[in-house]
Amino acid sequence: MNAFVLPSGNIFVFTGLLSFCDNDHQLGIILAHEISHAILAHGIELASHAHIVDLLFIGLLGFVWMFFPTDTIAAIGSFISKLIMNIMMETPYSKMLETEADEVGMNLAAKSCFDIREATVFWSKMSYMERSTMMELFGTQEPPINLDFLSTHPSHNERSKNLDRLVDDALICRRKCGCPPLPPMDPRIRSKMADREKMVETFRKELQGIFRIKDFKEL
Ligand SMILES: [Zn+2]
Ligand SMILES: [Zn+2]
Repeated sequence: MNAFVLPSGNIFVFTGLLSFCDNDHQLGIILAHEISHAILAHGIELASHAHIVDLLFIGLLGFVWMFFPTDTIAAIGSFISKLIMNIMMETPYSKMLETEADEVGMNLAAKSCFDIREATVFWSKMSYMERSTMMELFGTQEPPINLDFLSTHPSHNERSKNLDRLVDDALICRRKCGCPPLPPMDPRIRSKMADREKMVETFRKELQGIFRIKDFKEL
């Protein structure tokens, strides 16, 4: 987690996120996302959903406990109920809330005249970071076990694709709001070029490792 919002509307941004942002547009998009969570009252929504599931489990547990009234059963029961609640309820549900906040956030950012094309750039960068960390830890770009279903957030890659789809609509919205025109150079192209450069660099390093050739500048 890099930023979050309290139901009171106070937004917290970690300094790591600040330095990770290439420009004010990316930070504006993040803030718009957090503001959307507050506007849509997601904190309350999440809490009330969790309570309904909790109540159902307390009822079920009480029923089982009528026949097996032991502490172990109670302990195991509460553990299982928490686990099931996380997997069944909170994860797909909070993923849905994230997507919702992304959608509303894109419109907010567009109306504030930010360059919303930067949204895709930011999340591809996050995705790249994640993959290279995986590479360092496990030696592959994919995690050894896929734990996506346990995550409360859509994957960075999923997110970047989803936002890419929203960009066109948000650009129209931005134009209608009378915002100054955007620079003709699409930052998404800039980021793709940077990606390619990084790939070439990684490839070069690997080759250097294999052949132990000192000067590989000509490659
Ligand atoms: Zn909602
Ligand atoms: Zn969020």
